[in-house]
Amino acid sequence: MNSLADKDHRHLWHPFTQMRDWMAEEPVIIESGQGARLRDTHGREYLDANASIWTNIHGHNHPHINAAIRAQLDRIAHSSFLGLSNVPAIELAEKLVGIAPGASAVAAVYDRRNSSRAERPAVTDRRYSPLTRVFYSDDGSTAVEVAIKMALHYWIHCGQPQRRRFVAFADAYHGDTIGAVSLGGIDLFHATYKPLLFEVEHVADAAGLKLVLEIHGEEVAAVAIEPLIQGAAGMKPWPRGLLAEVRRLCDEHGAVLIADEVMTGFGRTGTMFACEQENVRPDFLCLAKGLTGGYMPLAATLTTERVFEAFLGDYAERKTFFHGHSYTGNQLGCAAALASLEVFEKERTLVKLQSKITLLREEMEKFRALKPVVDARQCGFIAGVEVGPFPWEAKAGIRACQRARELGVLTRPIGNVIVIMPPLCVTEDELRQICGVLRKAIQEVLE
Ligand SMILES: *Cc1c(COP(=O)(O)O)cnc(C)c1O
Repeated sequence: MNSLADKDHRHLWHPFTQMRDWMAEEPVIIESGQGARLRDTHGREYLDANASIWTNIHGHNHPHINAAIRAQLDRIAHSSFLGLSNVPAIELAEKLVGIAPGASAVAAVYDRRNSSRAERPAVTDRRYSPLTRVFYSDDGSTAVEVAIKMALHYWIHCGQPQRRRFVAFADAYHGDTIGAVSLGGIDLFHATYKPLLFEVEHVADAAGLKLVLEIHGEEVAAVAIEPLIQGAAGMKPWPRGLLAEVRRLCDEHGAVLIADEVMTGFGRTGTMFACEQENVRPDFLCLAKGLTGGYMPLAATLTTERVFEAFLGDYAERKTFFHGHSYTGNQLGCAAALASLEVFEKERTLVKLQSKITLLREEMEKFRALKPVVDARQCGFIAGVEVGPFPWEAKAGIRACQRARELGVLTRPIGNVIVIMPPLCVTEDELRQICGVLRKAIQEVLE
């Protein structure tokens, strides 16, 4: 084993990893990447079939994003966002507001500001309050924490402090910090920490949500959901129309809606944001993973003018949102994110994606024909192939992915679900190769 591997085994602790198993085998140490390919320190190449844990969009080592980061680096890497602003953070906020679900209504808000007071619809009316405000943080979990704290605080400012309950879905995943874990519903990850968590009502579907809102509606601050598909639950798409129904129920009972698009954002489901597909405008939109094209840890929580305005007041009123991180609004991250959005336009990423989504659908049919495959699920360019039935301890998903790795494809299973979500830039040939290798691995290891 080379000395880097040795040092890894001696000093590192990897996330979501049983370190005893890890230390029993030689680690793959990535040295470089190009497009949808990664290369390790032995010069072996792999296709990045899970987009480096769902983050990468336009490929590794993309010239435009690289150049943008270098140009920003020559100016400044980071300065505080507490009491200061910076150029790329401002420009990125404008861009994000411009593409957010329901953005066309943004223009109306600004028109309203210039018109006389009498004609202005109240900003407290949700229908007239699109996502106009961007609060930066560092990763998906912090984007969710920000939404949780803002939602609670918002209702205090509105004189409804009894609205302090949160509702989330069974099997939900919103991140690994304590607030996000409270919203989470995956026992394997979350149950251990119960003594640290705040109480959340977990519901299974729209009927469950309706029931909770009918009983506790007046006390619910917010409902949180992963739009269109639950990720860490094992790539489980929601029934069509569920998201719109959740929005309708929130409106009926006055609760705000937190859309966690940390995984689904930036083209993953076939549209820029998953919410667009059901014409839903949330009150909070959490973004991270793909925001920088998969380059840097940066997150954003978008919210409405209605929420923002509730926090305005005299200094002495203490209406300030007392939350922030050392690296809030980091310039390198914002420059990468701006460049990634430019690549979406330049390369017509979403247009080109559509035929790859169709190809993935065809490939999923072929997975379904395999004996160990019990289900093959897809939502846009996100797919999960479930094998089974195998007990969790059998490590069926892990073993299949280990074999795929030997065959040049890297991905990570969620239990018995093998994840397929390469960078959006993957070519059709590469996508066929990924699926072919995964089928071969499943057959060899599990049949
Ligand atoms: C990954 C993920 C998160 C957490 O993001 P981190 O950047 O890992 O903290 C939150 N919500 C969803 C839906 C995710 O997929």
